[in-house]
Amino acid sequence: MFFLNSIKNRLFMQAGIAHDIGQGYAIAIGVAVLGTGIGLYLGDYAQKQAKQHLDVSHTQQTLLKDWKNQVLILQAHPQRLLSVTQASIWFKYETSKFANDRALLTQLLKDLDAFTQQPETQEFIQNHQEIAELVADSEATIADYDQFIQSLWPTVDPQVVSPQSQENSPQRLAAALTSQEAKRFQLDFDDLLETLLQFEQLSDADQRQAQQKLAEASALRINIIASSMVLSVAIAILLAIRTSRAIARPIETVTEIAQQVTQDSNFNVQAPVTTHNEVGVLTQSLNQLIARVRGLLDEQTTRAKELEQAKTVADAANQAKSQFLANMSHELRTPLNGILGYAQILQQSRGLRDRDRNGIEVIAQSGAHLLTLINDVLDLSKIEAGKMELHPKDTQLATFLQGTVEICRIKAEQKDLLFTYQTEASLPTFVSVDEKRLRQVLLNLLSNAIKFTDRGQVSLTVKPLNFAPPAHDTPSAPPLARLRFTIQDTGVGISANQLEKIFLPFEQVGEVDRRAEGTGLGLAITQRILKEMGAALTVASEPGQGSQFQFELTLPIAEQAALLKTQSTVVGYRGAVRTLLVIDDHPQNRAVLSSLLQPLGFQIETAEDGTTGLQRAADLQPDLIITDIKLPDIDGLTLIEQLRQQRSDRDIPIIASSANVFSDSSQNSHTAGADVFLSKPIDVSQLLSHLQALLKLEWQYQSAIAASDKTRVNTDALSEGGDRLNNEPPKDDQPLIVPAPEAMAKLHDLAMRGHLKGILKEAEQLRQTPKLVPFADQIKALAQSFREKELLALISQYQNH
Ligand code: ADP
Repeated sequence: MFFLNSIKNRLFMQAGIAHDIGQGYAIAIGVAVLGTGIGLYLGDYAQKQAKQHLDVSHTQQTLLKDWKNQVLILQAHPQRLLSVTQASIWFKYETSKFANDRALLTQLLKDLDAFTQQPETQEFIQNHQEIAELVADSEATIADYDQFIQSLWPTVDPQVVSPQSQENSPQRLAAALTSQEAKRFQLDFDDLLETLLQFEQLSDADQRQAQQKLAEASALRINIIASSMVLSVAIAILLAIRTSRAIARPIETVTEIAQQVTQDSNFNVQAPVTTHNEVGVLTQSLNQLIARVRGLLDEQTTRAKELEQAKTVADAANQAKSQFLANMSHELRTPLNGILGYAQILQQSRGLRDRDRNGIEVIAQSGAHLLTLINDVLDLSKIEAGKMELHPKDTQLATFLQGTVEICRIKAEQKDLLFTYQTEASLPTFVSVDEKRLRQVLLNLLSNAIKFTDRGQVSLTVKPLNFAPPAHDTPSAPPLARLRFTIQDTGVGISANQLEKIFLPFEQVGEVDRRAEGTGLGLAITQRILKEMGAALTVASEPGQGSQFQFELTLPIAEQAALLKTQSTVVGYRGAVRTLLVIDDHPQNRAVLSSLLQPLGFQIETAEDGTTGLQRAADLQPDLIITDIKLPDIDGLTLIEQLRQQRSDRDIPIIASSANVFSDSSQNSHTAGADVFLSKPIDVSQLLSHLQALLKLEWQYQSAIAASDKTRVNTDALSEGGDRLNNEPPKDDQPLIVPAPEAMAKLHDLAMRGHLKGILKEAEQLRQTPKLVPFADQIKALAQSFREKELLALISQYQNH
């Protein structure tokens, strides 16, 4: 058994598939060749034997026939003598013929005797012994007969016998032939012929048998060849089946396992290794692969679990951070709201001394700076949470850039650096951009440049680029401008390996002294803001030589007309007094709104919580409600919903406000039913513009009032028609007298560039002309309080008059 197994192993396991198949072929061909060889050999042998048998029996038959014929010829001799007893020539002929025939017969018998002695004859001729005996008998008989005949010849020979007795020769011959001796020969010959006849018949049968054997031998030959062929084909088929099974079965097993793995994702299976050929190697490889994938999957599952846990922890931490930041922002913005609000109110007051005005300006600027700081911290958290939104608005580009540059110029001048700002006349006048974000980017890059430069210069270059708008833009889409901003300095520069790090949050590189000034957040925020705006920030720097930061922005060019609208200080409105209900739990917030809006002629009612607010709204039926969405008793959003239900007969405008800057506050308050959402601290111009839209107001501006010396704001006056005329200037209001177009163009240019010092200088000169004093005072006031926008708007308004 072991031996068989080892042969099997040798044949089907250790050998390769090609070897197995080759072996199969070799065995099949070997069997075919061997079978055919054996068939041919055996067939030929049998055929040869049969042929030999046939030849022998044929020879025997011929010899027997000749024998018989010769005997008959000799036997007929006396009869033939009868007719030649009188013709000596014929007699001679007959006697010599007899001698001849006798010699032939003797030779024949010798041949026969030799024939019977041959081994083949003895092998194939059964009666060869009898034949040999008969030959011997016949020899004796013939010798006797020969003597008898020869004894007759002198008695009848015409040459010997006298002519007289010749006549009686036939009688003498006949008499001799009927003698006892002659009769004995006759009987002997008859016996011999009869025996020969029997032998001949036997020989015939023998020959037939030999022929049959020959036929059988041919058939046997064909049979053996055919059988060996069939056998070899059968063996070949069996071997093929055996080999293919030996190959196919393991392949089928491997395929089944592979299917289980791929279809059912079952990686806990292994294919049995039954051979050591290529299939065996394949199976082992598959098993290794499955095991490896299982290992990886296990690893992945473990990692996924760890990640899930880490994510849960991180989410919770993030949630806590967002919550903390939201609360902090609320807590910080609420008092800041008071500071900024009052500063704005005080800025609106007239009759202030310059020193006080400057002080208020400082309060406003510090507040604004603080607000920016809070916003920056929030920015980062928003950016990190992926919640930053851009709020583009139409902006006068030159003024915006000038304003931004001026902030930095002071710092640069303090460090004795040359500060240059270069731009081109072809810059678009108005673009739509998120001013706050672009300012943040520019301020960060410029202040970095100033911070890291001790000698030389810092420059900002803004260059419009040739720009082909994207092909998919619709014709109605606004035209686009592409601007390249370059901030260059001759400062300390950044080394190549530091360049990789500077955009990472909280990464500061270079000298330690300078790091204290920053947080390492600036570039990280800048890069992300620019990315949000569709621009990439690039940097090129050489240590000791300076740095160059660059980015390209594509901005929609804005409609100019809409922006040229006058935005002078609002001092009142036309029409009936409007009652506003302010619901806010912080007294300073309520006070800010009251102080801001009451002077404009609004009647301000307040409520410190939601319940009171609802009650007051029902009692007073105000024209508009301004509510905080974080109230101590009822949630502000619920309050808005209840107001909407309560006041279904009247579509009362509601402005929601919150110090929470997260964008869902705005979304939620709109869903609850508010018309407008304003983030705290409330931007006055935004609030006024919403009030105008919601209450359909027509504002009265200070510029118009200031135009006339007679003008006095009379908040209590009633119009003749019974309408309350809020801060309305007198009907005979004179237009403001403005300088000549050249002077106006110069002022416009200065205002466009934000050159406030230049404007102050111009204003002083204009004051020399008495009729221009009101105009000069106005622009001076605006320039002193850095209200660049209003200044530009005022100059633009009158420039074309
Ligand atoms: P920081 O608040 O420290 O300025 P930033 O993110 O703005 O943070 O900058 C990261 C670091 O990149 C800085 O600490 C400084 O090492 C380097 N850096 C930025 N701008 C410049 C510049 N113009 N020249 C040299 N180094 C700069």
